[in-house]
Amino acid sequence: MSTFTRRSFIGKAAVAIGSFTALQKVVGADRSKSDPGPANPGLDGQNPDSIWPPPTDSKSLVQNFKYPFSFANKRTYEGGWSREVTIRELPVSKDMAGVNMRLTAGGVRELHWHTSGEWAIMLYGTARITAIDADGKSFVADVKKNDLWFFPSGIPHSIQGLNPDGCEFMLVFDDGEFSESETVLLSDAMAHLAPEVLAKNFTVGEKAFANVPKQELFIFQTEKSAAGALGKSPKDFGFRTMEIQPTKQTKGGEIRIVDSRNFKVTTTAMAMVTVHPGGMRELHWHPNADEWQYYIAGKGRMTVVATGNKARTMDFQEGDVGYVQKTLLHYIENTGDKDLIFLEMFKSSLYQEFSFSEWLAHTPSELVMAHLKVDKATYDAFPKNGISITPL
Ligand code: MN
Ligand code: MN
Repeated sequence: MSTFTRRSFIGKAAVAIGSFTALQKVVGADRSKSDPGPANPGLDGQNPDSIWPPPTDSKSLVQNFKYPFSFANKRTYEGGWSREVTIRELPVSKDMAGVNMRLTAGGVRELHWHTSGEWAIMLYGTARITAIDADGKSFVADVKKNDLWFFPSGIPHSIQGLNPDGCEFMLVFDDGEFSESETVLLSDAMAHLAPEVLAKNFTVGEKAFANVPKQELFIFQTEKSAAGALGKSPKDFGFRTMEIQPTKQTKGGEIRIVDSRNFKVTTTAMAMVTVHPGGMRELHWHPNADEWQYYIAGKGRMTVVATGNKARTMDFQEGDVGYVQKTLLHYIENTGDKDLIFLEMFKSSLYQEFSFSEWLAHTPSELVMAHLKVDKATYDAFPKNGISITPL
């Protein structure tokens, strides 16, 4: 076997059985691909393309573009927990950050607001969200798995887990420096105001606020439910993703694109992608924004081709964050035996992409054939419609 076929054979075998041992079994006299020193078999087995990169990856080093939520620093409370992946954890992620949060039934994320827009998707269970719009009108909605919400910057809001088992959700912020621990909280704000100022402002006696907490609540458990009349505000800050038709459906999977064209209030765009086993989210790039990814289910691998002769392939699975800088070419291949589901998130009101195959299919064929040394039959077979998952 040539080095190329041997290596790809070993890589595939290791992926197939998920085993570190298979990655180590290199036959023949050439010991170049052995790794006899200390190793972490569990992590190495999950990252076969980092342990033995495909020969098409560059020798020029590429910044890490993966961070598993398993590594994130968790803040735990009675009522739930929170953990985040920001530029602190993943330095390449300058434009976006994610916060993963769990609230028990009755658990409340304290009333607060922040300087970035908050986009969210429910991952499990149900929650009640409340906000007021810029005209002071009340918004209350119940959200379930795959529903979205978007709170523009400065809009105060709360989230409470509902029966029977609360919820878990992913918040995505349009600022890599964002931190969920640096929001403007109701309790914090009150604790930093003099009693006589509060009394004057709310036109009550100073003693009325004697029991205001001296420290932030952040997440807390309560019996009181976030009631409020449903939907008084004419603005809908919520979106029911599964009630729309997929934007594109092929034999290989489907894509649902939700941006300001169908979800009016949002300034963050989403593509929810499902890739069936053996399928691949085709090669493409985004001309207008960086892409922040969250892997919801399954296993996949992604190669990012950067400028200056650089390319790297990394493996992803449930719970991982991925990141692709604006304009860089990438694909995501399902490497597992069940559906791969992930989110592509953008700091932009509008979703935009260029498909690699569509671009070449709409470029004069003589020019493409001269570049790539391919025949006309090959050129003619290129898919022409873009935003797709193969097989078509
Ligand atoms: Mn928030
Ligand atoms: Mn993409």
